[in-house]
Amino acid sequence: MIKIAIQSKGRLNDKSMELLSAAGISVSGASRSLTAMANGFPLEVLYLRDDDIPQAVAMGVAHLGIVGQNEVAESAQDVREVMPLGFGGCHISLAVPKNTGYYGLQWFNGKRVATSYPGILTKFFTANGIKARIQKIAGSVEVAPAVGMADAIFDIVSTGGTLVQNGLVEVEKVFKSEAVLISTKVLSEENEELLKKLLLRFRSIKESRGFKYVLMNIPSVALEAAVSLMPGMKGPTLIPLAREGWHALQVVIHENELWDKIEKMKEIGAEDILVLDLENIIR
Ligand code: ATP
Ligand code: MG
Repeated sequence: MIKIAIQSKGRLNDKSMELLSAAGISVSGASRSLTAMANGFPLEVLYLRDDDIPQAVAMGVAHLGIVGQNEVAESAQDVREVMPLGFGGCHISLAVPKNTGYYGLQWFNGKRVATSYPGILTKFFTANGIKARIQKIAGSVEVAPAVGMADAIFDIVSTGGTLVQNGLVEVEKVFKSEAVLISTKVLSEENEELLKKLLLRFRSIKESRGFKYVLMNIPSVALEAAVSLMPGMKGPTLIPLAREGWHALQVVIHENELWDKIEKMKEIGAEDILVLDLENIIR
């Protein structure tokens, strides 16, 4: 039995549950309870506040955890970052009130900077030889300059909307983060095996994100052009149709190039195009 800690509520909760469910692991019970048993895998889920997840994993209370890289770095706990998960993307940035005449990092010397990430910021300032006063604030960091508590802030930015609302501009992107699967440094042999199995499932889900499965009929005379347009993973699958002069083509393709390729395929005579969602790619 392996235990995984995930955020009980908040930005990472939904996506963490979705990932488990896409991996064929359903979790019974509401996320209000502290723990729940999973079906489809020998797994117990522990619901925690995200700040507590790195510590819980370092202590071995949970063997695994899903949490932002920002929380892992800030907590400075001794855990293994096993796999970035491709969701929960954001960065932690320095921002100053607009019209301050910011001229570069040296501006921060002697300034007061409010943040919930004093650990990451201290490291950054030290590495850059900046002497500033770091003020730890638990919530609503972005209002600190307006109320006179700080000259600048160091906070999470994803779209930048909150900064604009508070009259701030982002001046330095310091730390890039996404959700990551973490594990305790040492796992039992049995749990190491379970982790391997989980990783195979997570990897296949991650790899399939953004990919589509496309089927179409194409005139056999256009086969060569079709294959060079749609190389797929190891070349497309081609099957002769019962109707003379036609083939069916099946291929995996990323949604970024989907419409461009489909237009080109239509130009060389493709018809009856089906686009399907892809759940897993297991290589
Ligand atoms: P908890 O109650 O569990 O302590 P929280 O309020 O500290 O939750 P959330 O706001 O739910 O945390 O964010 C969780 C994580 O989501 C962050 O640590 C970060 O890794 C990621 N994240 C992605 N985008 C954003 C964003 N725009 N603002 C805040 N966090 C974000
Ligand atoms: Mg938190």
